[in-house]
Amino acid sequence: MEEKKINKLVANILKAKGLSEEQLEKLEEVGIYNREDFEIVSDAATLSEILSLETEVSKKIMEWALGRSLTFQSPSQSTPTIQESSGPIIVESSDVVKCVHCGTRQPKDYKTGDLCLSCGNQAEPVLNCHWCLSTGPGKFCRSCGSEFVTSSDYEIALLLKREGESKNNIVSMIKSLTAQEKENMWAKIRKSR
Ligand SMILES: [Zn+2]
Ligand SMILES: [Zn+2]
Repeated sequence: MEEKKINKLVANILKAKGLSEEQLEKLEEVGIYNREDFEIVSDAATLSEILSLETEVSKKIMEWALGRSLTFQSPSQSTPTIQESSGPIIVESSDVVKCVHCGTRQPKDYKTGDLCLSCGNQAEPVLNCHWCLSTGPGKFCRSCGSEFVTSSDYEIALLLKREGESKNNIVSMIKSLTAQEKENMWAKIRKSR
């Protein structure tokens, strides 16, 4: 069988990069004959091991062979950690209460549960938190910070929680549900009763 030889051009380039004749022979020994074979070697550390070569030289060679700079393929390419944004817990100051129905500011002596002077509805309906099950007025639960859902969506929120959705997801999911999707979820809720 004819002995496979390293491509002459490749050999000359590698010599220019700092490989000795001996190391070129070693390359042939391990079966690297052309530029494509370096793809299998794939990194400078491996090449250093094969040829007992200084890292600097093997890095130069691998950069040439792979046609890209190795500094850009460090393992730091991993996906950035996405922090779950819990958002600030908004606690409305107690002396500024606006009616959720008509937006009218309520008087200073307003107490939770009072009716709006302007429209007669409960200015701040007391809602059940689907997440921690405490109750409270306003837009956000004062115990766990979750946004309240309307009482008509409460059961759906409970269902989503049972299904393992996160606290932050549930409210935005409910807001994006179509009427049909809500109807489907109600069917599920009824079945589970
Ligand atoms: Zn009102
Ligand atoms: Zn809560």
